[in-house]
Amino acid sequence: NLGLGGWPARRALMTPDRTAFVFGETSVTYAEFARRSTRVAHRLRECGVGPGDRVAYLGPNHLAFVETMFATHQLGAIFVPLNFRLAAPEIDYLLADSQAEVLVHGPECAETVAALDRRPGHVVAVAGAGPGELDYESWVCAGVEEPIDVAVGLDDTALILYTSGTTGRPKGAMLTHGNLVWNTYNLLVGVDVASDEITLITAPLFHVAALDQTLLPTFIKGACSVIAPGWDVEACYDRIERFGITWMFGVTTMFAELAASPRWAEADLSSLRIVMSGGASIPESLIRTYQERGLVFCQGYGMTETAPGATFLEPAESLRKVGSAGVPVFFTGVRVVRPDGTDVEAGEPGEVLVKGPNVSPGYWSDLAATEAAFEDGWFRSGDLAKLDDDGHLHVVDRVKDMFISGGENVYPAEVESAIFEHPAVAETAVVGVPDERWGEVGRAFVVCHPGAVLTGEELRGFLRAWLAKYKIPVQVDVVDHLPRTGSGKIQKSQLRTLPRT
Ligand code: AMP
Ligand code: MG
Repeated sequence: NLGLGGWPARRALMTPDRTAFVFGETSVTYAEFARRSTRVAHRLRECGVGPGDRVAYLGPNHLAFVETMFATHQLGAIFVPLNFRLAAPEIDYLLADSQAEVLVHGPECAETVAALDRRPGHVVAVAGAGPGELDYESWVCAGVEEPIDVAVGLDDTALILYTSGTTGRPKGAMLTHGNLVWNTYNLLVGVDVASDEITLITAPLFHVAALDQTLLPTFIKGACSVIAPGWDVEACYDRIERFGITWMFGVTTMFAELAASPRWAEADLSSLRIVMSGGASIPESLIRTYQERGLVFCQGYGMTETAPGATFLEPAESLRKVGSAGVPVFFTGVRVVRPDGTDVEAGEPGEVLVKGPNVSPGYWSDLAATEAAFEDGWFRSGDLAKLDDDGHLHVVDRVKDMFISGGENVYPAEVESAIFEHPAVAETAVVGVPDERWGEVGRAFVVCHPGAVLTGEELRGFLRAWLAKYKIPVQVDVVDHLPRTGSGKIQKSQLRTLPRT
């Protein structure tokens, strides 16, 4: 087994007594972990799972997620982690699309599972099995430990990850074992991951970043992952201090919440060596706040389909190259092209293309989407970016989010950065909406910090100092929250459809 399914046994041979995972009060060594996931693999095989079959997982972060994943891979089957925040009809769609044979679910999702129209042949409950369900606890604690030897190659599919669907209905990006291995190599070239790392996994594991950018690199080194069930700022501080966390990955909002907490000043963060952010660029003010605390960000740009790393910014460059997502990761090519496919000049925006051993072969059972996503073997990211004179990538916006107002291109991301300069603003999103006079105009949605007050007119006045007039949103809606996908991305498609007032 050349795929991930071979990893637990290999690690158990090399470092049997080291701690692989901590979850709640449970801690398992690599030897125990290999035994547990092998038992699960045998049970999955009894359910009829074989090479190429799909095993879905629905639930917040849990040790069972990781055990089920490696068990699935021991059988040469495909692991399909689902976003546990989705409603039953959405899960039905994903189960129908992936044709999963088995669904393993956490207790938090029992209601959703009960409401499903399309229950797979076998439903396994991680705790407290309901009627007609199998009990995960009995799977993992007892049973056959005989090694399973299934031929798995690097080109075999390991994961189907449904992309967050900010633009339309979700597509299942296939990632092969090779994609995951090469992403791990790319990461290890950029980051000094050590075998004594204690990594905090607090972002959702069903999303590519937590899984491929932290859990797999930690595992391959034989280091320890502390799995948190979800994001919670207090619990995050507790875990950093209790376990002496050395590495954590997060999105901008998590790092902003940590810095805004009263514990920021006095917490002991001295163990942290690697802080890694992804999914969006990190504002300069936050970079400086962390730097004053002796913490420097590893930043990068990537997407589900590139497993996910495409570019990486050296921590030492984070202030000199502020706003940049860095240079292509070591084994991967990145180009920025015009609509006619020719490469842009420095400073000129174009679409980002990615090619390399970490790039997905395509979407699950969706040939049309796969064909549309590739151009001469290059994956079309749908992101607009510029390259600077040193070849550093600066993400400008989504191609689809850019709008044209009175003949001028407006990049909502630029408008959002200006809005963030207002001290009352906690979150914001800008979309282009139809307008009779200008074709399209900007509309901003703003969430204020608790206790702060802001009117649309005040914000528009403030923006005049920062932005050309045509970029200033004509309407500002102050709202309580913004609609987000499971991975925390703002659903602009939803905002665009709200009637203007
Ligand atoms: P997903 O496919 O859900 O993992 O999201 C990938 C998308 O997140 C990319 O296509 C970009 O639009 C956005 N993204 C990722 N990293 C960055 C970054 N460093 N700066 C700006 N946008 C980013
Ligand atoms: Mg995407």
